Amino acid sequence: VGSEMCIRDSISTRGQAPSLGFEDVLLTGLASDGGLYVPETLPQFSHQEIASWATLNYADLAHKILLPFVEDDISSSELKIMVDETYAGFNHKAIAPLVQLDHNEWVLELFHGPTLAFKDFALQLLGRLMDNALVKRDQNLVIMGATSGDTGSAAIEGCRHSERVKMFILHPHERVSEVQRRQMTTILGDNIHNIAVRGNFDDCQQMVKHSFSDQAFLKGGQLGAVNSINWARIMAQIVYYFYAAVALGGPHRPVSFSVPTGNFGDIYAGYLAKNMGLPIAQLIVATNQNDILHRCISANQYQKKGLVQTLTPSMDIMVSSNFERLLFDLYDRDGAALAELISSLNNGTTNSLEPQRWEKARQLFSSHCVNDDKTCDVIRQTVHQHNYLLDPHTAIGLEAGRVCNQRLEVPMVTLATAHPVKFPDAVVKAKQAVPPLPEHLTDLMQRPERCQVLDNDLTKVQQYMTSQL
Ligand SMILES: *Cc1c(COP(=O)(O)O)cnc(C)c1O
Repeated sequence: VGSEMCIRDSISTRGQAPSLGFEDVLLTGLASDGGLYVPETLPQFSHQEIASWATLNYADLAHKILLPFVEDDISSSELKIMVDETYAGFNHKAIAPLVQLDHNEWVLELFHGPTLAFKDFALQLLGRLMDNALVKRDQNLVIMGATSGDTGSAAIEGCRHSERVKMFILHPHERVSEVQRRQMTTILGDNIHNIAVRGNFDDCQQMVKHSFSDQAFLKGGQLGAVNSINWARIMAQIVYYFYAAVALGGPHRPVSFSVPTGNFGDIYAGYLAKNMGLPIAQLIVATNQNDILHRCISANQYQKKGLVQTLTPSMDIMVSSNFERLLFDLYDRDGAALAELISSLNNGTTNSLEPQRWEKARQLFSSHCVNDDKTCDVIRQTVHQHNYLLDPHTAIGLEAGRVCNQRLEVPMVTLATAHPVKFPDAVVKAKQAVPPLPEHLTDLMQRPERCQVLDNDLTKVQQYMTSQL
C-alpha cells in the first residue's frame, strides 16, 4: 500500500482531467477539460458527532468541518491558524449571528466580514490557503476573476497582502454599485489590478473562462481562480449551514434554508452539508428575474434569456457555473454524459434535463423568482413589521422562503448575503433610510481609486494584463 495514496482527491465534472489533491485544485480553478472540480467523496458526520459541536465557536467548527477536506496537504495546526485569523477579522463576535424575525423564521447574517457580503467567509480563507501553498511550493500565481460586485472586493481584500499573488479583477463598467466599486478600486496595492469592462457580467465571465482554457497569453504563467468555480470557496461555505442548524436544535431537528442565488455556489454548499449528514428539510433557490434556475427546477426549462439588470446585481447572471456540479450528481457522476449535456445546453440542441434527472432536482430543491417591485415591498414591510432592514438579495431569499415553505414546524433560515448599505439604490427605492457605513469603511467615499476601463475585447484585456506582469 503506497503511503502517498491520497484519500480525498477531487475529480472533474467532465471526466477527462486528472484527479488532483486539495492544494492543486486550490491553485488551478477550472479543470483542464473545462469541467469543475468536486471531491471524489465527502466526509460523513454522524448525528452524534454533529450534536457534540453545539458548544463550538465558529472558527473551531470551521476547523472540524474543513480538516477532512484538506488534511492530505495541510496539517491540523496550520489550518487552525488560518481559520482563526480569517474569522478574527470579522466585525461580529458570533461571526454568523442568527436574527429571529418571526416564529420559526430566521435570518443568518453573513455580512459581518470586511467587505460586508457572505463572500468574505470563503475569500478571506482562500487568500490564506493560497499564500500558504504558494510559499511552500515557492510559486507565484496570476489570479483572474470576474465579479458582479461582491466577489471582487472580497477577493481583493483576501489577497491584498499576498506577495505571491497578482490579481486582475474584471467588473462590468458602471454596473456595480458605488460602494462595491470603491471597495475594489480603493485598494491600491501593486499586486491588485481592477479592470472595468464595457459590457455585462457574463461578458466578464466569458473572458475569464476563455483565458483559463487558453493560457498561452501568460507565456508560461499559471492562472488561479477566485470565482466560485474554485472548489475551496464552496468548501468554506459549508460551515455556516452546520453552524446555523446546530444553533437551532440540529441535528435533532431539521432546518430549512432559503438562499439568494446567482452562480449556485452558496446553495450548492448547503446541498453538500446535507450530503455530509446535516438534516436539512428544504433547500430553496431564490432568484431575481434572471431566473434560469427557477425555470429549470420548477418546469424543466433550461433556456438562456437576455440578461435583465435588477436591484440585486450580485444575482444578475444568465448561466450559473456551479449548477454543473449539481448536474454531475444528477447524472450519476458520469463525466462523459455531463460533457455531452453541457455542450447540448450551450449550443441550444437541448433545453431540458432528462425527466428522471429533473425529478431528482425537484426533490432536492424548491425555487421561486422575485421581481424588483416585490423585492422593495419586502424590504419596506420588514422594516415596518420587524424593524429590520434587509439588503435586496436577502429580501428575495426571505420572500422565496415564505412562498416555498412546505413544513411550517421547521425553522426557515434565510441567508442574509449582504449588508443593506452595499445596495443603497434598492433601499432608497423601498423608501427606507440608508444606514451609515460601518466604522472601518467610513471614509470609503473619500479614498482615491485606481481602475482601468477597457472595451469588451478579450485581446485588449489580455494585453493589458501582460503589460502589468
Ligand atoms: C454572490 C452573491 C449572491 C449569489 O451567490 P451565488 O453563490 O453566486 O449563488 C447572492 N447575494 C449576494 C449579496 C452576493 O454577493
